[in-house]
This record gives sequence, C-alpha cells and structure tokens, in this order.
Amino acid sequence: MSDGTFIRMRDVTKTYGRGTAAFQALRGVSFDIQEGEFVAIMGHSGSGKSTTMNILGCLDSPTSGEYVFRGTHVETLNRDERAMLRRHYLGFVFQGFNLLARTTALENVELPLLYRGMPRQERHDAAREALAAVGLTGWEHHTPAELSGGQMQRVAIARAIVTQPSVLLADEPTGNLDSARSEEIMGLLTQLNRERGITILMVTHEPDMAAYAHRIIRFVDGLVADDERVTGKMTEGTH
Ligand code: ADP
Repeated sequence: MSDGTFIRMRDVTKTYGRGTAAFQALRGVSFDIQEGEFVAIMGHSGSGKSTTMNILGCLDSPTSGEYVFRGTHVETLNRDERAMLRRHYLGFVFQGFNLLARTTALENVELPLLYRGMPRQERHDAAREALAAVGLTGWEHHTPAELSGGQMQRVAIARAIVTQPSVLLADEPTGNLDSARSEEIMGLLTQLNRERGITILMVTHEPDMAAYAHRIIRFVDGLVADDERVTGKMTEGTH
C-alpha cells in the first residue's frame, strides 16, 4: 500500500431508494482506522451503523465518497472484486451466531476453508487450531444444539479467524448473551486483538461492551458525532 493507509473513509454517503422515496442513511462519514485498532461503533437505531459496517465489510458500496482498504479504492470495485477482498481479509461475527445447524463445530469452522479449496487435512488442522484459540478443544464434534450461546459465539469467532483475516467485523456479538458470557466473549476479542493483531470493528449498544475497545465512534443521523480514544477495559496498567 502506497500511502500507509489501512482503512480510510472519506465523505461517504449512502442513499437508499430513488426520487421522493430516497433516504440518505449516511451523510458524509469520514474516519481512518489504523491496523491493530479495536473500535466500537455506537449510536441509536437508524443512525447508520449497519450501513457503515456493510461498506466496511465490502458488502455494499458508498453512493459517493471514498472507502480505501489497504490502499485499494473499494468504491471502484465490482461485486466480485469486493467478494475477493472480503474472503481474503475480513472475518464476520454476528449477533445470532449464524452457524449451520446439524453440523459440527469443526465442520462449521472448516467451511470458509472448504470454499477456498484447501485440502482436507490442512482444513482440519486449521479448524482445530482456531477452536483451540477460542477455548473449545474437546468440543469439535458437537453441533450447535449441544452448545451454549457463549460456546456458539466462540465457534462463530473461530470460523471468522480460521482464514487469518486482518479485520474482524462484529455486529453486536454479545447481543444474545447474558452478562457473564458477554464478558467472556469480549475478553476473547481483546485477546485476539492483542495477540494476533487483528483489527476489530464492533457495533454495540452496550456501553459495558464498548468499554473494551480503545476507541468509540458514535453515529447520529448518518454522521460521526463523536470519535474518542478510550483506555480499554482490559488494558494492563503500566508496571
Ligand atoms: P443502524 O444500524 O444504526 O440501526 P442502519 O444503517 O441500518 O442504521 O440504517 C440507517 C437508515 O437507513 C435507517 O433509517 C434505515 O431505515 C435506512 N435503511 C437501511 N437500509 C435500508 C434499505 N435497504 N433501504 C431503505 N432504507 C434503508
């Protein structure tokens, strides 16, 4: 990448619909994200968080403005090119886990590698390693129905990191979990951020979860209203 930019959004707008039905969900969003950051994205419902995440996740394109990812102007790419970028660099975690039912944890985690055409043994090894990284050694052959919510989210995180993405996009990852399980998942995300250097971009409504991030970007009515650096709940003190 020529200019050292990891993620850059500049004056991004997004308009849904046309004519009198047109609605501008993003009205000129700009921010930069450095590699290795842990960012929480907050804001009321309808403020533009999902629209921003869809653009960051290369699932959608801005109506106008720039989205540069690792030096690539994503707004100039077509759907297939965006999909390539997504598969290579991005991992996704959702509120509802989105695991395949009646499919073991190992198989769920292997799926993105299967799409890449990775040979069977390599796939198994990588999936086992990812499950170990989320604390699920011994649970490889369990199906989602046999796992708790917290364990299901761990499987989903293993599936997201098995391709060694540089960015993890998490959309309310603790939205379906109780507070103890939420804290565990946030601890895990913090660990992945710190130990693997994975950049984490996480939408959350919960201040307790946002407190784990090192930066909070707040949206109001399709604009960034506030962008502040915070200490991060699990940041070790100076010794
Ligand atoms: P948030 O994630 O903060 O709740 P969204 O990005 O989902 O906000 O939505 C921002 C605004 O754009 C909302 O008013 C929503 O109704 C509108 N919107 C989102 N997606 C669409 C769509 N596909 N078509 C029309 N309007 C949409």
